Amino acid sequence: MAKVSNEKKPQMEPLEMKRDLYHMIINGERVTSESNETFTTYNPATGAPLAQVVKATTADAEKAVEAARNAFDFGKWRKYPVNKRARVLNKIAAIMRSRFNELVEVEVLNSGKSLSAAQGQVMQSIEDFEFYAGAIVGHRGTVNNVPGGFFNYTQNEPVGVCAQIIPWNYPMMMAAWKIAPAIAAGCSVVVKPASLTPITAIILTEICHEAGVPEGVVNIVPGPGALIGDYLVEHPKVDKVAFTGSTPTGKDIMAKASQTLKRLTLELGGKSPNIVFDDADIDAAVAGSLFGIFYNTGQSCEARSRLYVHEEIYDEFMEKFIEKTRQLTLGNPLDQGTHLGSIISRSQLEVIDGYVKSAIEEGATVVEGGHELTIEGFEDGFWYAPTIITNVTPNMKAVREEIFGPVVVVQTFTDEKAVVKEANDSEYGLGSAIWTKDQGRATRVAHQIQAGIVMVNCPFSAFPGTPFGGYKQSGFGRELCVETLDLYTEQKSVLSYYGNRPINPFGV
Ligand code: NAP
Ligand code: MG
Repeated sequence: MAKVSNEKKPQMEPLEMKRDLYHMIINGERVTSESNETFTTYNPATGAPLAQVVKATTADAEKAVEAARNAFDFGKWRKYPVNKRARVLNKIAAIMRSRFNELVEVEVLNSGKSLSAAQGQVMQSIEDFEFYAGAIVGHRGTVNNVPGGFFNYTQNEPVGVCAQIIPWNYPMMMAAWKIAPAIAAGCSVVVKPASLTPITAIILTEICHEAGVPEGVVNIVPGPGALIGDYLVEHPKVDKVAFTGSTPTGKDIMAKASQTLKRLTLELGGKSPNIVFDDADIDAAVAGSLFGIFYNTGQSCEARSRLYVHEEIYDEFMEKFIEKTRQLTLGNPLDQGTHLGSIISRSQLEVIDGYVKSAIEEGATVVEGGHELTIEGFEDGFWYAPTIITNVTPNMKAVREEIFGPVVVVQTFTDEKAVVKEANDSEYGLGSAIWTKDQGRATRVAHQIQAGIVMVNCPFSAFPGTPFGGYKQSGFGRELCVETLDLYTEQKSVLSYYGNRPINPFGV
């Protein structure tokens, strides 16, 4: 591929966000694929087709890597003064703000999530760009203590071409978590959106160009993960892979990326414990536990899906928890009053129902939900009732494995030490929550929990600026925070000698 020319190309023209066909974007152009193929993307709330999306082939993925490589090796983005890059990130955020309602609507239509969830996630995506616009300006090197005559400083240099593979549960927000820090740092990216929800990541890529990101810096290639994702992970010209998705796919990616020793960030699954002590503010704990599991219809890697309630307050807590669960509204995702949207697909719904059935077979009790739902006006969509399961034991499948749906398993405890042990008895370690008024206990338990995130009397897991990521098989690397920039940069140490006597270590 030729060197990037200095000719000023027109900025990418904005289009209606709702359309019949979405292109991939390679080297600053909306393009069709080598094969001319497209695939259908659906509205999971109705089950109806929503639009066609250009389906990348490996030849297209190759072009995208070349474009990103070319932009990184010869382009101007990484050489811009950092304030100029920051200004473009702020412009991306400003365009997103000005088209907020449209972005929210397409996110809802493609994911089936509730309007309020999409509003929060699109707003956070905007704030991610604003956060990294600020953070990159402060992401400086250091001057280190060295013997006299020597001078050492470090500088952070962008790591290069990054393949960014994202899941369907937060289509816009995951794209923002990936793209914002990478381009702030000066990297070029090739994004592989989830096949079920490609639309908002494509629109975000368009907005990046509209805001002034040069061609080749942000490319997007929708297509099958096993083909396109794999191709990017194995590509020798890709320097880093950032992946969010399932733990099995994460392991596969880690093995393949090792062949070229790529930098790697993995945000994987979870089975997060939620511990309610006997001295908790029960109403706050009920509200937070409800949100903790049923937000985003439970399709959340940090869903607090293992609930541990102290025996002393179990009856009171459960009565309120079940009552509030019954008050949750499932319905038209575009209604402001809807709490829970649909499940992403028929196959995910079957996975969820399979876990519920396995719990029943193993002797558990479904006290609420536990079945598919039919919603008036959305009869062909994929809906599942918010589900509470009790009488479970630690070795049941539904207690050990990630369900990724609106299903919580509830256990009781009496002893602080014992519940910490139970909470840590998992291959995962992403989120966790503690409800207590005892500050000493909160701190003690927070420090013993093996998880990347601890929520104390708090329903939310993160804001831009707080580290997000897991212990154990929930992955490694932290996103959403200043330190994410370390993972998109290489630290270069420059050691120089300023003495006036030449050094001759061999003495020859
Ligand atoms: P997944 O298979 O891990 O997919 C995530 C992303 O990776 C998608 O873009 C997918 O593309 C791509 N991909 C799939 N196979 C790949 C491969 N061999 N090499 C490279 N990329 C590949 O997850 P999923 O199928 O969407 O969801 C399944 C389970 O993952 C869920 O039930 C849940 O347990 C977990 N999950 C976790 C999170 C999280 O945030 N931690 C998010 C979503 C899902 P395609 O879309 O084209 O397959
Ligand atoms: Mg998959």
